[in-house]
Amino acid sequence: MTSDTLRPDAFRDECGVFGIFGDSEAANLAYLGLHALQHRGQEGAGIAASDGRLIRASRGRGLVGDVFGGQELANLTGNMAIGHVRYSTSGEASLRNVQPFVVRYRDGQLAVAHNGNIVNATQLRDELEAEGSIFATSSDTEVILHLIAGSTQETFINRLVDALLRVEGAYSLVLMTENTMVAVRDPWGFRPLVLGKRGDAWVVASETCALGLMGAELVREVAPGEMVIVDGDGEQSLRPFPRRPRRACVFEHIYFARPDSTVFGRPVYDTRIGLGKLLSEEHPIEADVVIPVPDSGVPGALGYSQESGIPYGLGLMRSHYVGRTFIEPSQQIRDFGVKLKLSPIKSVIAGKRVVVVDDSLVRGTTLRKVVRMLRDHGATEIHLRITAPPTVGSCYYGVDTPTRDELIATRMGVEGICEYLNADSLGYLSIASLRRSEGEDAGRFCEACFTGDYPIDPVPEGARKQMPLFVEDSPTEKA
Ligand code: AMP
Repeated sequence: MTSDTLRPDAFRDECGVFGIFGDSEAANLAYLGLHALQHRGQEGAGIAASDGRLIRASRGRGLVGDVFGGQELANLTGNMAIGHVRYSTSGEASLRNVQPFVVRYRDGQLAVAHNGNIVNATQLRDELEAEGSIFATSSDTEVILHLIAGSTQETFINRLVDALLRVEGAYSLVLMTENTMVAVRDPWGFRPLVLGKRGDAWVVASETCALGLMGAELVREVAPGEMVIVDGDGEQSLRPFPRRPRRACVFEHIYFARPDSTVFGRPVYDTRIGLGKLLSEEHPIEADVVIPVPDSGVPGALGYSQESGIPYGLGLMRSHYVGRTFIEPSQQIRDFGVKLKLSPIKSVIAGKRVVVVDDSLVRGTTLRKVVRMLRDHGATEIHLRITAPPTVGSCYYGVDTPTRDELIATRMGVEGICEYLNADSLGYLSIASLRRSEGEDAGRFCEACFTGDYPIDPVPEGARKQMPLFVEDSPTEKA
């Protein structure tokens, strides 16, 4: 595949990564860690483990629990392992693109798991292909492997640094050779990554919820631009990259991360409650009940209810047996998916003036359906409140966002959107309130999806042609 065939404006790279060094149950713990990170990716999962001599991997499409059986995990022997969950909205999911990628090059084996998006991947790939590289996947992550293999530096760590110096964009990476684990975060710190300890074992994970599950203690965040190396001699930290201003993804706090995680040093749940409170201050309304769009709207609705004094109610039930509606590929199926996923509880909403809180409004699909559902079940007024500003920019740094044209707020103003959704009122959190919630970290977040102000500026040409992570091929393939 050449970059010309890549689908323009395709952003699909939300993922979770995990790594553990120094535990004889490494693969089993990676399995548990990936379970905790499942919300970050539901289309594919993989674990690579090393016994010090050989790296073995097992990968598959689907949920963590479906991909790994006891036998797969039993085969993954050794006291170190890395894992990955992948999230994608694309139709065809190819196993070739499910990580960790494991390759063999002149120095031995290497495994990598990546969360983020390499903005100049297409450009680098074109250059590498021109020099004769043959790519096995359509993923931006493979570019990093080629750069490592092609580096003239002498040690693995120096080769990795050399490779990453050429890479622009968002990466929280966990890599593994036969006997070393490395965790790296890009200098902007777009995506989260934390370091923990479980007894003598070192653990890295996208979110703290993965540490909590296995009783590991949080040591600290892997800092933006930091490389943590763990091997038989213990742990060491390097800062090999030029410094950049910190630009943590604010959308992790608003939507993506799990509420029981602490992300970028802040508890996600508390942050979301705070956003709901600020929203209530900013857009008060007389109403009888505040309901969330579950699950992501729950803390925001609680915050709104606490601040306004309007009782909280569970007006919508969520089925946990369907995936996120957002990931359905076509609009037709997406519409259907909302009904499949959410169903109203009539006694909470009938005859009531209802405030509905959701974390974000992207295309407007979810809330349009929700409003119709609530009206059909007797709500007398519907006031929509969003714990984020209008989404006006696609993400180039690892959150799957539709193209700019698909974002409803790029096509109409608040009044127009309110009318389209058939609500009685619509209130978004302002950028100013969002920054208030960031406290002393205000200005240190990437808010490009709400401001259109991209930290890596100008966005390199090739970024608009992000490589699809999944390409068509046999669905039954197993690594
Ligand atoms: P929409 O229905 O297109 O307006 O999307 C908004 C809904 O999708 C909200 O309920 C969000 O919780 C959810 N959402 C927003 N952004 C994303 C994303 N990047 N990935 C998955 N779901 C999202």
